[in-house]
Amino acid sequence: MPSSVDALANLPLRDDLVGLHPYGAPQLDVPVLLNVNENTHGVPADVHAAIVEAVAEATRGLNRYPDREFTELRKNLADYLGHGLTPDQLWAANGSNEVLQQVLQAFGGPGRTAIGFPPTYSMYPLLSSGTGTRYVTAERGAAYAMTPEATAAAVRDSEANIVFLCSPNNPTGTALDLDVIEAAYDAGQDARAIIIVDEAYGEFSQAGKPSALTLLPGRPRLLVSRTMSKAFALAGARIGYLAAAPEVADALRLVRLPYHLSAITQATANAALTHADTLLSNVEAIKVQRDRIVRELTALGLSPAPSDANFVFFSGLHDPRRIWEGLLDAGVLIRDVGIPGSLRVTAGTEQETTVFLTALTKLLQIAR
Ligand SMILES: *Cc1c(COP(=O)(O)O)cnc(C)c1O
Repeated sequence: MPSSVDALANLPLRDDLVGLHPYGAPQLDVPVLLNVNENTHGVPADVHAAIVEAVAEATRGLNRYPDREFTELRKNLADYLGHGLTPDQLWAANGSNEVLQQVLQAFGGPGRTAIGFPPTYSMYPLLSSGTGTRYVTAERGAAYAMTPEATAAAVRDSEANIVFLCSPNNPTGTALDLDVIEAAYDAGQDARAIIIVDEAYGEFSQAGKPSALTLLPGRPRLLVSRTMSKAFALAGARIGYLAAAPEVADALRLVRLPYHLSAITQATANAALTHADTLLSNVEAIKVQRDRIVRELTALGLSPAPSDANFVFFSGLHDPRRIWEGLLDAGVLIRDVGIPGSLRVTAGTEQETTVFLTALTKLLQIAR
């Protein structure tokens, strides 16, 4: 087969995209998929029924463009999040990835800089390059922690226009203390930096960990993004959203495509939000398996990072590639995020977690 990569070199690709690799978590057909932090519980029956009914109704009107302002969805999202948020503070798009892209389109771009704190979500550099935004990084402290002082210094020194704070962080699972977010916000005062807190895994946080939503009042440059892909088990529907000051939504209106949220997407999201309680009950079951993974990996002599998400990042492996392949042979797909000695696994159902832990235990015994 002729390589399309070679042929790509013949196309007049933008200079800043040459040599880049697309996002590419493997999509393999194996029984136990624990690699991209999906909610493996599936869509509950009553939620499924509600979505089917809502979509059937929306289908009748597909000859018309959808509500460009997704009015009902913004109201439902505001009600779901609480914190006194009003619909004009909510914005949504096709996955939080599109929300982040719109933020970069509106506030980033040529001549502007975004900063991230790796290891963190691999899409931040890709979304930055796609929008012609320079992407710079700053280091984390011991055990991937971030302190207010170091974060503030990095924000100030970089003069970044956009600051990506991922909490709980993917791939490490660690949540940020609110004082880190406050420090980043204050340090971005001179550059008028947009501080975006990516709370894709917010619903999985350990009890008592507050959301950055509590910091929104009085902070017009603070944006908190969320998604229905993880806690709400709707990765396939592509619905993400953010909460911020109303003028942020006005900025995003300048860059979004007209009618970017289809009537089908809006109907799906609205139906799911009316069943948030059912969906969130599975979140509790997932958290139990997450904590179980941390416990059992520790007992196996590995070093799992404390997790506020629906996945566990663990190190202490001599040959992670061999373990990853051995798990795959056992029908379990997890994620190699490219950090030496480490792998990341999504917390699945109890049964999937058992399959993973059993296979891993066996592989570690062989290794010793
Ligand atoms: C999964 C994930 C998202 C969600 O992306 P969607 O486009 O909403 O599916 C966003 N941020 C992080 C850090 C993630 O891990």
